[in-house]
Amino acid sequence: MKVNIHTHHPKKGESTITSIGIHPYDAQNATTDRILAIERQALTVDAIGEIGLDYCCSTDKEAQLLAFQAQLEVAQHTYRGVVIHCVKAFEPIMKILDKYTLKFVIFHGFIGSAIQARRATDKGYYLSFGERSFRSAKTIDAMKTTPVDKLFFETDDSHINIDDIYAKASTILGIPIALLEYITTENFNKICG
Ligand SMILES: [Zn+2]
Repeated sequence: MKVNIHTHHPKKGESTITSIGIHPYDAQNATTDRILAIERQALTVDAIGEIGLDYCCSTDKEAQLLAFQAQLEVAQHTYRGVVIHCVKAFEPIMKILDKYTLKFVIFHGFIGSAIQARRATDKGYYLSFGERSFRSAKTIDAMKTTPVDKLFFETDDSHINIDDIYAKASTILGIPIALLEYITTENFNKICG
């Protein structure tokens, strides 16, 4: 089994985490009823997600903030992890996460600098790299500085094969594919075991 930590197209032979949550794109529809429904189902999934802030989309920022915090509350008191969607909102997200105690935090589809990567992993957060991560030279630096025990890979909503992501990462990091698979499996077992 190979870990594909965040995928919209689950496949046989891949381990992934299950999640439920209101995406920041949809934050305006985060009614109390929907939050309560997520809370009722929280124990059937590994994580609340994708949740977070996306300052490149047109959704109202205040609505995003409210939806994000309401779902972090749910994650905290149901002892779930969170899958974070972060676009141009690293600082506010880091500040908000500080207020919560969460089982685990994964920044999915991480795009950012080596300094940001270090700040997140110093807090114990995991970084998951996907197809778009490889298109950013800055993010490739971030990947290289991420401690291996905080590393994940994903295909997200793309139809790319997870093997291709591992192959690219293997070349960049200078770590054999089999070892990368072993490392991410260990990380997966740590958060879901
Ligand atoms: Zn996302």
